[in-house]
Amino acid sequence: MSGRTVRLAGSDVPVIGQGTWRMGTDRTAEVAALRAGIDLGLTVIDTAELYADGAAEEVVGEAVRGRRDEVFLVSKVLPRHATTDGTVAACRASLDRLGTDRLDLYLLHWRRGIPLAETVAGFEELLEEGSIRAWGVSNLDVHDLDDLPDGAVPAADQVLYNLTRRGPEANLFPRCARTGVTIMAYSPVEKGRLLDHPDLVRVAAERGATPAQVALAWSVRRDDVVAVPKAVRIAHVEENAAALRLELTAEELAALDHAFPAPGVVPLETLS
Ligand code: NAP
Repeated sequence: MSGRTVRLAGSDVPVIGQGTWRMGTDRTAEVAALRAGIDLGLTVIDTAELYADGAAEEVVGEAVRGRRDEVFLVSKVLPRHATTDGTVAACRASLDRLGTDRLDLYLLHWRRGIPLAETVAGFEELLEEGSIRAWGVSNLDVHDLDDLPDGAVPAADQVLYNLTRRGPEANLFPRCARTGVTIMAYSPVEKGRLLDHPDLVRVAAERGATPAQVALAWSVRRDDVVAVPKAVRIAHVEENAAALRLELTAEELAALDHAFPAPGVVPLETLS
């Protein structure tokens, strides 16, 4: 494996992986993109039962067929399924669609209504039966993490984080660092919307990299973040994989910090 790694749920994984939101529509291209990404070292694959009503998990299943041991598979339970029994049932359905007997990490997609203790009890059952190797959460802010049952420490919190969404740096990241919770940065290129920002374009041009590569390298500059960009175009997959080896200089980081200042303490943002 080349490029930097981060500790995630007991494994050393590359700091950039692959997202799958909005996959499940053009299966041939999506499977090809995911496989190309795995070949290039983007082995963390992030999916969810939500995405295309399970069709994204089927695409991932096809992409990892015959190479399950090469990847670190992450999926998520919907809040409305996240009772104890519902979590176990949802995971089994995800495993079916993925064509595997285990997830490396299983996340609560976001919090709504059902007490966190019930979901954690479901995760514990899944751990015991070997269906998941670790559990975590997504879209949980500091006060939500504080509501987890005593002693229940998620392996990861997957949150919206990129140059234009720096809110988690103020309180959430320090809280996660203190308790050993790895950050998974979702929408790390803001769905492509931040890529024509003039300052980002300039830093990238001076470095001889693309804006997406600089945005990704920036998002994983800490030692506790893994980013999961989604890309179906092979050229994008190749660019993202090359960003595994892009280390930004102190000057480049300072320029980006100036162009995209952190907002201080704000509620955790989400993306719809
Ligand atoms: P994203 O990764 O920030 O952006 C995806 C878009 O950027 C796609 O249109 C993609 O194009 C384009 N792109 C990717 N690499 C590029 C490159 N090198 N140059 C130019 N454009 C590039 O947004 P996202 O899909 O919202 O987030 C990533 C993943 O995070 C999701 O797929 C999902 O797995 C996860 N996520 C989780 C949550 C949550 O609530 N936990 C929420 C949102 C997302 P092509 O596809 O055409 O190549």
